[in-house]
Amino acid sequence: MAEYYPKGYKIPLANGSYAEIIQKLGEGGQGVVYRVAIGGKEYALKWYHKGAVQNPKKFYQNLENNVNKGAPTKAFLWPLYLTQPVDGSFGYIMELRPKNYREFSDFLLAKVHFQSLSSAVNAALNITNGFRELHRNGFSYQDLNDGNFFIDPTNGDVLICDNDNVAPYGESLGIAGKARYMAPEVVRNLKRPDVMTDRFSLAVVLFRLLFLDHPLEGKRVVEAPCLTEELELKYYGKDPIFIYDPTDDSNRPVRGVHSNAIKFWPLYPQFIQNKFITALSKDAMTGKTTRMTDNDWQLAFTRLRDTIITCPCGSETFINVAGDANCVNCGKKIPKPPVLNCHNHKYGLALFPGVKMYRCHIDKDSDDFTQVIGEVERNPKNPAMWGLRNVSDIVWNVETLDGTLKPIAKGQIAPITAIKAIHFPNSIGIIEYSK
Ligand SMILES: [Zn+2]
Repeated sequence: MAEYYPKGYKIPLANGSYAEIIQKLGEGGQGVVYRVAIGGKEYALKWYHKGAVQNPKKFYQNLENNVNKGAPTKAFLWPLYLTQPVDGSFGYIMELRPKNYREFSDFLLAKVHFQSLSSAVNAALNITNGFRELHRNGFSYQDLNDGNFFIDPTNGDVLICDNDNVAPYGESLGIAGKARYMAPEVVRNLKRPDVMTDRFSLAVVLFRLLFLDHPLEGKRVVEAPCLTEELELKYYGKDPIFIYDPTDDSNRPVRGVHSNAIKFWPLYPQFIQNKFITALSKDAMTGKTTRMTDNDWQLAFTRLRDTIITCPCGSETFINVAGDANCVNCGKKIPKPPVLNCHNHKYGLALFPGVKMYRCHIDKDSDDFTQVIGEVERNPKNPAMWGLRNVSDIVWNVETLDGTLKPIAKGQIAPITAIKAIHFPNSIGIIEYSK
């Protein structure tokens, strides 16, 4: 048998159909990925190297279970069909990755950059939501690392790949994970990967996504003459220290080495810094306190996105919902805009031209951060006048400053300076003006 399957070779699928090889797309330690055709449509086939999988029978059954259960959300490049065992191995079929998605590791290597702050924050939201839904479906991912994501740099859309290690909660496929992403207790060999260890790995992935450096790699890692196995066990397992741990400054980022962390960390609002400080505190890392959940992150990043506005210089920046802010690009002072306080300060949406209002802002029972409900626009005749346009099918009742109620239907605009509150079907948004 040749090392690779040639063009035209037919691999039988478990469902009785077959996949015809078109070409080899890539190769990793575990196997080869081919472009294939099934009944006239193109897919990707991941084919395992012989002997690459521990306990192949269990692995195959787990894949079969995942195929039957289906993807948690459309963000997953999920196994769709299994092949029959051929030549002592097997594989599975998934959708092909569209070209606009780039590898996460390319972002870390500065080969690709996010187009804007909001595309980076959207990517954080999409990754977090993907894992939340995965965990809610009773799975753990087990091997979360920088090789698992493809991201569209223009809008932050995410595809989560390598879902072959995903297993029901409590099951272990014998995978420990990738160094630098594994939870300390997995590094120390005290525990097998599960939902809790996924939470740690998620915090590392999110930190790297936004700050492009590693949260545990600062001064002491740079100063180590040689990263021996013993030191690795110390830095990532027994005694990990977050580079911005407020109680311990022994591992701060080093100028010239960790330039990204030094540049990006101060740009983010305090409440986001605090989330990472909590998630990567010594107590959370050693398991003394519980770890940040996917849901905590999703709420935090939705709130963060509420504070992103486009400065007149053209660059996106964070607004300070509590006071004035300076643009991260041009440094110009941006006075605090009116803020829509939703669900008793659960969210605070900066009402600045270009900002979008989502389902979660108007519905206290929803955390949908994707469905656009409204948009802030400038009045074309008078750019100093801003209005909130309803783009949803839900009629809003706008309470004006003089206390009258005015219905705003789809397509209509309410001038922001005249609004006191907006009554939605099951919640109220109150506008707070700067004093
Ligand atoms: Zn600016």
